Amino acid sequence: MILMCISAGAQNNKMTHDMTEFYTPEVPVVTPGTDLKGGGFTAPSDAIVLFDGKDLSKWENTKGGPAEWTVKDGVVTVDKSKGDIRTKDTFNDFQLHIEWRIPKDIEGSDQARGNSGVYLQGMYEVQVLDSYNNKTYVNGQAGSIYKQSAPLANAMRKPGEWNVYDIIYKAPDFKADGTYRNRPRVTVIHNGVVVQNNTEILGTTEFIGLPRTVKHGAGPILLQAHGDGSKPISFRNIWIRNL
Ligand code: MG
Repeated sequence: MILMCISAGAQNNKMTHDMTEFYTPEVPVVTPGTDLKGGGFTAPSDAIVLFDGKDLSKWENTKGGPAEWTVKDGVVTVDKSKGDIRTKDTFNDFQLHIEWRIPKDIEGSDQARGNSGVYLQGMYEVQVLDSYNNKTYVNGQAGSIYKQSAPLANAMRKPGEWNVYDIIYKAPDFKADGTYRNRPRVTVIHNGVVVQNNTEILGTTEFIGLPRTVKHGAGPILLQAHGDGSKPISFRNIWIRNL
């Protein structure tokens, strides 16, 4: 793990973003199976439905005001001018289902091509990006734990088609001094393909610098309004089960 090779004594303020990006080994491309029903599973009976296609009543902006992304035809589309949105509810261990679509006419490259993200407990980003045919650092492509763990496979569907994440998350716990007793762990299934297998999350998912340890309790699901110029992506059918 390349992050472990960086001096533990290094200070984040001496770092640059490219120090935590790696490009090899490359992630194998796997063609996901065909979805016979045209979408992922709808919510099971014990799930909390976070977005059912109608409104964002379960969501807010990061200042606690209304979530103002665009809801139309059963999907919600990022409004980058409105910033990130997060669930009003907070969660510990959970199973999250979320579907996302890169616009068919997406433009841009690298990290500036359909970038968004699903932040677990508001802290740890599972990357959302168009990785269908788009090179970037492997620990920053779709299905990565951003700047930490590259996905085991690239199971990306084409722009214009729906991608599905099923995310199983185990929250961390902390010692009295604020360091991890047990780090968070996550399994991510992308279009039916395991891309993170009980991955230990090292700390916060930083653009610049090493993961940080920030003591926290239950947290929201946060969706990223990434500040690049490419067309905004959409989400649908979002539900969560407390574990
Ligand atoms: Mg992102």
